Amino acid sequence: MVEVKGTTILLRMQFVEERATPEQKKAIRERLAPEFSQVLESGMLLPAEWRPLQWLVQLTQVVDQVLGTGDGKLAWELGRYSAELGAKAMYSAFSKPGDPGLIFSIGSGVWRQFYSSGRLEVVNAGPARVRLQVHDFEEPVAEICAGVGGWMERNVELAGTASTEVREVACRRRGDAYCEYDISWT
Ligand SMILES: [Zn+2]
Repeated sequence: MVEVKGTTILLRMQFVEERATPEQKKAIRERLAPEFSQVLESGMLLPAEWRPLQWLVQLTQVVDQVLGTGDGKLAWELGRYSAELGAKAMYSAFSKPGDPGLIFSIGSGVWRQFYSSGRLEVVNAGPARVRLQVHDFEEPVAEICAGVGGWMERNVELAGTASTEVREVACRRRGDAYCEYDISWT
């Protein structure tokens, strides 16, 4: 079973805290698995603990249903938000003004801080372009593919780029050997 660090879940809960009305928060809680919901309610979910990937996936789906349009696009936005909040708080090391490539030079170490499965490979494709590959992730799901893309995009932007483009050009879910992102900036 793939696990994720509690922090990935808590950052998404922070998004809910900021954007949802009390009614929407209630609707989100009611749609989560009881076990997961109880852990959230009791405040027993800690940033450094490993928790099931499926909790993160379910939370992303439910937030998209309640706050988004249910088409999965909010998963990308949630990834961006995690980078934004992370940069402000605990993970400032991932993003530095004037150095858009920083996230990639430390990328392979970053992955295992959040996910118990898979590894990152960074292929330099030019002075302001990289190809980022996610290998051997045991449970490829759309919510993670989008979240990673959004997270990378925002980390690059936070370095002060004029424009940033991130596209997932290969994906395990489509039968490719690994998920690959083409990332460029100016
Ligand atoms: Zn993918």
